[in-house]
Amino acid sequence: MCGIVGYVGPKKAVPILVQGLKRLEYRGYDSSGIATMNGEGPIFVHKRAGRIREMERSLPSPLPSTSVGIAHTRWATHGPPNEVNSHPHLSSDGSVAVVHNGIVENSSTLKKMLRSEGVVFRSDTDTEVIPNLVARFYEGDLEAAVKKALHLIRGTYGIVVMSTAEPGRLVVARNGSPIVLGVGDDEMYVASDAPALIAHTRQVVYLGDGEVATLDSDGFRTTDLEDREIDKQIDEIDWELEEIEKGEFPHFMLKEIHEQPRSILRGLRGRFEREYGDARLGGLNLTPREFFDIRRITLVACGTSYHAALAASYVLEDLARVPSNVEIASELRYRNPIVDAKTLYLAVSQSGETADTLAAMKEVQRKGGKVLGIVNVVGSTIARQSDGGIYIRSGPEVAVASTKAYTSQLLALVLLALKIGRMRDVSAGEGRELLEALEALPEQLRSVLDEGEQAMTKLAGELAHAPFVLFLGRGINYPTAMEGALKLKEVSYIQCEGLAAAEMKHGPIALISDGTPVIFLCPMDQLHEKTLSNMEEVKARKGRVIAVGNPGDERVQALADVFIEVPRTHPLLSPFLMVAPLQQLAYHTALQLGRDVDKPRNLAKSVTVE
Ligand code: GLU
Repeated sequence: MCGIVGYVGPKKAVPILVQGLKRLEYRGYDSSGIATMNGEGPIFVHKRAGRIREMERSLPSPLPSTSVGIAHTRWATHGPPNEVNSHPHLSSDGSVAVVHNGIVENSSTLKKMLRSEGVVFRSDTDTEVIPNLVARFYEGDLEAAVKKALHLIRGTYGIVVMSTAEPGRLVVARNGSPIVLGVGDDEMYVASDAPALIAHTRQVVYLGDGEVATLDSDGFRTTDLEDREIDKQIDEIDWELEEIEKGEFPHFMLKEIHEQPRSILRGLRGRFEREYGDARLGGLNLTPREFFDIRRITLVACGTSYHAALAASYVLEDLARVPSNVEIASELRYRNPIVDAKTLYLAVSQSGETADTLAAMKEVQRKGGKVLGIVNVVGSTIARQSDGGIYIRSGPEVAVASTKAYTSQLLALVLLALKIGRMRDVSAGEGRELLEALEALPEQLRSVLDEGEQAMTKLAGELAHAPFVLFLGRGINYPTAMEGALKLKEVSYIQCEGLAAAEMKHGPIALISDGTPVIFLCPMDQLHEKTLSNMEEVKARKGRVIAVGNPGDERVQALADVFIEVPRTHPLLSPFLMVAPLQQLAYHTALQLGRDVDKPRNLAKSVTVE
């Protein structure tokens, strides 16, 4: 799934569309295009394979002065990424234009039917059936024609449709691909994601699955596919335009790494009950009785979110004393999961659109399970589909490799663990201690990041030439090792592995030879001694020991070839400080290797396909 932008109003559409697409560029795409018109048409279509810049550069001059239009960045599912296959697509009579995110699963059947009626398809895409169906069903009402077409379509979609028969109007629909409307003064916007809108309006409406919106310059109306009116609430975007701009930073990834002191602060704000040593979390939608009844917590996630969930499972077990396990969403969904009334499920996803997590969550809900969403993007599908949850409030994350969302996810889960813990064995005093440590985190993180810049740049120079890097940690920092390895491999393409330190001797130790870099996470906690033994094992095989540890840890300092110092904190919070230098290390290594740091090859920001 990539980007959609649409505009209807008095302004010139083309610059708004191109600018909007650029704001969604970070999601990754292979081609782009726009369609605009004025009055009765014809529809002007302009598309290109490759970067948006190419498409923009080849636009005619002067620009068509049109005031309604739709635009798209494509991430090909059906047919190669070339100009013909890029969107918008027109009906074969040229009257209807469509942009589409998602997949029309029954497109071959629909193509056959339409071909038999004389339709000629120009592209290989599944999408092209949509404008042709709309044109076929049009009888004086565009919205009705779109609905008729959608009744025939199986699959997922976020679409925007325009027609020469009803100039000045856009019809929008969603099923499984996000759509957000932007409400302006005598103008309306639509996009697949809020960053495309924020330069113009903060008033937004998140469309739900099965909903259709018809936009004119003077407003919008929403209905379902059965024509029932739906009253939609207008929400306010609560972040600033600067958050999706690089500012003085060369890359979003670096900017987002350094934003963590702020994002942690934002995640904490208003979420304390200092007097009671408790967390205050609105939106969980659980009664005290339901909290009381929780016998198990199952976290469901993919990728970086999986690592945040894994770290959180240690905190949940420690504070809440509830057995907690983490499931890879794609595994859970196909395993015919055993859902139990006393298990609380937590779906963790930055974008709130992760297809595997969403599907696993639906499967659990179908069986009667209760699922809370731990999500960043407000109004996203998982946020809407969940029975309650916590917004992690990290602010928009643009770089494909997640950094600030990781620490914010973990923070939200720590607060949840505290809340459940305070209903059980955690005393108010212990709760207050944790809260104090949480409050100190932003400043501690700032100092780690400030000092880390130079040190990690230097270390990156060394790692850039390594064929393989091993990350080891124990307990709550085992997930930190996995996340450190994932970060480095995602952006530098160096082969990395993150393991529970003691697992090394059960196999991976065979990989260690003269100079192999092994990064240890070794806070001065109850596992310190054990991790030291693993360091000795690596040293004995001439591996290069790089240790992240606490000040005054002379034993680790004596053993390590490189020592990265991070301040001490509450033992359950050490991952926040340990992961930060690993994020910086990944960034600087990728930079030194000349990688496309913010858009690593083959990766997309939100994985909305299975
Ligand atoms: N399935 C459509 C295509 O291949 C849409 C892809 C997308 O979501 O960008 O053109």
